[in-house]
Amino acid sequence: MSNQGVLVIAETKDGKLAGVTKEALAIGAKLAHGGVGGKVSALAIGTGTDAIAKELIAHGASDVYTFENADLAKYQPDAYVQVAEKAIATVHPKVVLMGQTDSGRDLLPKLGLKHHGSVTPDCVELGFADGKLTSAKPVYGGNARSIFASGAAMHFAAIRAKAFEAAPRNDGHQGAVHKLDVHLDQAKVKVKVTEVKKQESTGIRLEDAAVVVSGGRGLGGPEPFKKLEELAKILGGAVGASRAVCDAGWLPATFQVGLTGKTVTPDLYIAVAISGASQHMAGCSGAKTIIAINKDKDSNIFKESRYGVVGDWNEVLPSFIEMCRELRGS
Ligand SMILES: Cc1cc2nc3c(=O)[nH]c(=O)nc-3n(C[C@H](O)[C@H](O)[C@H](O)COP(=O)(O)OP(=O)(O)OC[C@H]3O[C@@H](n4cnc5c(N)ncnc54)[C@H](O)[C@@H]3O)c2cc1C
Repeated sequence: MSNQGVLVIAETKDGKLAGVTKEALAIGAKLAHGGVGGKVSALAIGTGTDAIAKELIAHGASDVYTFENADLAKYQPDAYVQVAEKAIATVHPKVVLMGQTDSGRDLLPKLGLKHHGSVTPDCVELGFADGKLTSAKPVYGGNARSIFASGAAMHFAAIRAKAFEAAPRNDGHQGAVHKLDVHLDQAKVKVKVTEVKKQESTGIRLEDAAVVVSGGRGLGGPEPFKKLEELAKILGGAVGASRAVCDAGWLPATFQVGLTGKTVTPDLYIAVAISGASQHMAGCSGAKTIIAINKDKDSNIFKESRYGVVGDWNEVLPSFIEMCRELRGS
C-alpha cells in the first residue's frame, strides 16, 4: 500500500504547536489536493499529545497519530526515528513534511535514507506535478533559487519557517486521533538529549513581531542598540540585527535576520545602518514595508526599501524616535 497522502511530523514550542507545523499542514493540504492525493495526517510525539492532536486537527489534519511518552518530551533522535518509522508504516505517506528546524534537519534525512526517498531541506516552495514533487530552495547565499523535481516513491521535505502561510484555525474541522503502539528498542538508542538550554529573552519574539527594528555594522558597536530597543518599544516591536553585528558579538546570534538567521515577515521592517546584502534580505524581504536609514545613497538597501533616509543614523534616529513617540502618545 502506498501514496496515502502527506504526513506532517509535528513540533512544539513551549508546549504549544509550532508555527512551522501549522505552515506544513497548510502546504500539505495543498499538495494532497494538488496531485499527491490522499489525506493530511500528522504525528505528535512526547507529552500533552491529546491537546496537540486537537490543535493539529483544527489546523487541517484529518488523522493524528500520537505517541505519549514523557521521556520523549524533548526531541530524542534515535527514539523519534522509531516512532516516525511506525507512523510511516501505518500511514504509507507519499510525502513527509517537517520544519527546517534543529529536529527537522536531523530526523528527515534519517527517515529519507531508510526509505530511499528524496530529501529536500529548506524548501520555500513545494508543488506536485506529473508524479513528481517539485521544490525550491535558496542557493548561492540567497541570490538564486534551485528548483528540484523528484520522481522518487517517497519524499521528505523540510520547510523553511514563514515561507508558507498557515491556514486559519478551524475548530469545526473533524479528524480522528489514533494512539500508536510502539515498543521502543533501547538498544537502538545511541544518542540521548539530556538538556536543552534556553536563552532568556524579554518582549515580543522577533519571528512574531509586527514591527522589527534591525541594526547593522554601521551602528559601530553594541551601545546604539539601546536606541533601537527604545524605538522598538514605542512601536510595539522587536529588535533584529545583521550577521555582521552578531558575528562581532554585539548581540547574540538569536537576533540575526537573514539566510543563516531568522526569517521575519513583519508589517514594518526598519533597517538602520544595514547595507542590504542579499543574505540579509533573504530573511526580511517578506516584510510588507521596509524603511532604511543609511548614509550611503548607493547602498543596496535603498533598492529594497519603500522609504529611505540618506543620512547618519546618529542624526536621523533621535528625531525619528521623538516623532514616533509623539505620534504614539507614549
Ligand atoms: C553564506 C552566507 C550567509 C550569510 N547569512 C547572513 C544572514 O543571515 N544575515 C545577514 O545579515 N548577513 C548574512 N551574511 C553576511 C552578508 O553578506 C553581509 O556581510 C552582512 O549582512 C553585512 O551586514 P551589515 O549590512 O550590517 O554590514 P555592512 O555590509 O558593513 O554595512 C554597513 C552599512 O551601514 C552603513 N553605515 C555606516 N555608518 C553609518 C552611519 N553612521 N549611519 C548610517 N549608515 C551607516 C554603511 O553605508 C553600510 O551600508 C551571510 C553571508 C554569507 C556568505
